[in-house]
Amino acid sequence: MPEADPFTRYAVERLRSTPFMPDGDAPEEMAFAASLASFRKLHERDWGGTNARGEALFVDAGYLESMTPNAFADIHDDRHFIGMHQALLVTIMDLALFAFTQSALFPTVGDAEGEASPSPAHGGVPGLYLLELTLRGEGVEAELAKHRVPQDADRHVMAVYLAMLMARFVWEHELAHCQLGHVLFLQIEGQGAHLSEAPFGPELVGRQPSRRSSVELSAIRHAFELEADATALRNCIAIQLENIENIPGIRALDPGLRIQMSVFGAYLMTWLFEAYGHHAAIEGAASHPEPMMRLASLQRTTRTLLGALDGFDAFHQGIVDQFETLIDALGVETQVRPSLNTTASTVTATVDLLAAFRFVQPS
Ligand SMILES: [Zn+2]
Repeated sequence: MPEADPFTRYAVERLRSTPFMPDGDAPEEMAFAASLASFRKLHERDWGGTNARGEALFVDAGYLESMTPNAFADIHDDRHFIGMHQALLVTIMDLALFAFTQSALFPTVGDAEGEASPSPAHGGVPGLYLLELTLRGEGVEAELAKHRVPQDADRHVMAVYLAMLMARFVWEHELAHCQLGHVLFLQIEGQGAHLSEAPFGPELVGRQPSRRSSVELSAIRHAFELEADATALRNCIAIQLENIENIPGIRALDPGLRIQMSVFGAYLMTWLFEAYGHHAAIEGAASHPEPMMRLASLQRTTRTLLGALDGFDAFHQGIVDQFETLIDALGVETQVRPSLNTTASTVTATVDLLAAFRFVQPS
């Protein structure tokens, strides 16, 4: 038998989990096989340089078979690992498909007028409902699933691209946790290096007593999330501005639309993570800032990166309006709305803590 690759070994031995290899023949899985391939290719020459301790960053990335929507960054035997759970992909894809069934969303793409603009079939976040059904062992009725898919072929394809851009934001966020020294810092602090995005999983195990208070550790973790978000968004936008997009279908789109969808996708992920928190029925997990705070912070990052460009205000308002339209179409209760002006909370300065561990500087 050939020796398993490092991610597979890590998944099986360390996480007691099974790696998920997307099926290149299944349309929805093919996109995620392409998403991981694209991410690896973008970083193949350099995962993020060398840190002050002289260590070069190298990252193994992969998917896990798991019905809890989550993503993580970790270090094990001096190798960084990042991963996404299969359920995260399912919910990203279902939300992206739902978005393009709404004629008010991206109205210039394809035959938007012809879309049925259905309500979510079960009064909630499309993918999460399907997950609950699956977890209860009930089948997903084909008839219900049909409504989730855009009628127009161009819009269907664009929904897949949106899902890929959302997944890219998640890859870049996890990579940022490695690049910015967060994972190494937590390991050295004895906090268990495994940084996971949703309040599930092994994050709370394996911690040792710390000389820092739980309030301080919580503030540090919040700062890590905001930093990772900012660096991820910067990288996603840079891929378009520097014209290094390597997914041919996305590369063929108008650059303005590519940036708009990249930013929209990043914003949507903050909202999805809030929905995952509700799904898990765990409120106010101490490890992550409030989703609204993350969204507000991302909006500031967008303005920092693009604000000087002509027509930025109208461009950004367009993204905000699309987001609000989608939330209204879903009919869900949420505080995560980009139109609400949330003032930034004070972010803990991490510069000194992380000087030895950072491979790159934060955005
Ligand atoms: Zn994170």
